[in-house]
Amino acid sequence: MSDRLVIVGASLAGLRAAQAARKAGFEGELTLVGGEVHLPYDRPPLSKAYLDEGEDPDTPVFRSEAELRDELKLDLRLNTWATGLDAERKVIALSDGSELEYGSVIIATGAAARTLPGADKLSGVHTLRTLDDAVAIRDALESGARTVVVGAGFIGSEVASGARKRGLPVTILEALPVPLVRSVGEDMGRACAALHEANGTDLRCGVKVAGLVGEDGKVTGVELEDGEILPADLVVVGVGVAPSTDWLAGSGVTLHERDKGIVCDETLNTGLPGVYAAGDVVHFPHQLFDGMVMRLEHWTNAAEQGALAAKNALNPDEAKPALGVPYFWSDWYGSRIQFVGTPAADEIRVISEELGEDKFLALYRRGDRITGCITIDRPTQVMKYRRLIAQSKSWQEALEFAGVS
Ligand SMILES: Cc1cc2nc3c(=O)[nH]c(=O)nc-3n(C[C@H](O)[C@H](O)[C@H](O)COP(=O)(O)OP(=O)(O)OC[C@H]3O[C@@H](n4cnc5c(N)ncnc54)[C@H](O)[C@@H]3O)c2cc1C
Repeated sequence: MSDRLVIVGASLAGLRAAQAARKAGFEGELTLVGGEVHLPYDRPPLSKAYLDEGEDPDTPVFRSEAELRDELKLDLRLNTWATGLDAERKVIALSDGSELEYGSVIIATGAAARTLPGADKLSGVHTLRTLDDAVAIRDALESGARTVVVGAGFIGSEVASGARKRGLPVTILEALPVPLVRSVGEDMGRACAALHEANGTDLRCGVKVAGLVGEDGKVTGVELEDGEILPADLVVVGVGVAPSTDWLAGSGVTLHERDKGIVCDETLNTGLPGVYAAGDVVHFPHQLFDGMVMRLEHWTNAAEQGALAAKNALNPDEAKPALGVPYFWSDWYGSRIQFVGTPAADEIRVISEELGEDKFLALYRRGDRITGCITIDRPTQVMKYRRLIAQSKSWQEALEFAGVS
């Protein structure tokens, strides 16, 4: 029987899994399978510095090919898609027709961007998930595109910010009355939206997109349900992602009924022997939040879970739960928004107002505990609250720590 560790998905969670396996002393065969042609690269810069004016930016790869092959001793299979998993024979089928036997496997296939009907028939319409997407969006911004962003989520908002930095006109269309409700809650979504207004982005909430408009195969605008057409040379669709799990159909891996993410236990095990998962693709019960089941789309979660999944796969008898407090950041117009914990709250209290400060800080309460914190432009503060949440501190203790009560 093979003792090979196969990691499917050559991005952040996959790479961190490989690094953690070697660090834990695993000396067996370690194969990293990635569908993209590129070496594993970092995604957050793609909607930030990568879009800035100036010389063509470097690709934000994590490690050189030599480092991956020589130092990590990786059997690197790029430009290769996993097409199936047979848990009985313990093999992964690959797009080149071959099969890989495994002792254990980590699924880190992340998620792919959703788009609008008809988007694939018009040039100038992009999602932003991959390096290739970022290159195309950057090129369009270089040529001075009028930009319409569909969806006021984090990535769409960062693209809008990048376009405004270049002085270009941008409109964001959002179906909900307030942006970011699911990520930070309604009031805080409103506070973030104010950044768009202050920086000249035309943010339109509560509007429904009827479809894309084009001529000669190129996008020329976005039509709203009331018939208005917003002219555009570049349309960026930021309407969320879908976990990349089609290839697992029939494998016995349990997929979530809503979005087809992978259902794991708290140790990131899928329920199949030796099969673990990590990163954006995973639903898992978070023990710090009373077993609340989460699927996170955050850099820090993917990094932490990748490492944990590898350690648990190699040492299942001592498998540990995923306990990292969720954390994400997003950069808009020179401001940094940071969030820790969960937005599901009984109360959100704006602390900065109480202290008479203009830099933003708000805390989230669930029951009698602090369960979340959002800040704008207070980079060191948010990590202090992350620690309080990790230690399950009470609401009262958090308020005292903040200097209010
Ligand atoms: C533009 C952008 C900006 C972001 N900015 C931030 C930020 O500011 N802050 C933050 O916290 N988070 C941010 N994120 C989120 C963060 O980058 C993700 O949470 C992280 O990349 C998830 O890592 P992952 O390894 O789980 O999945 P992914 O990065 O999605 O990687 C999965 C990989 O698996 C490959 N794959 C899929 N299916 C298969 C298959 N069948 N066979 C082989 N390979 C396969 C995919 O091609 C992909 O390369 C951003 C994301 C994007 C796209």
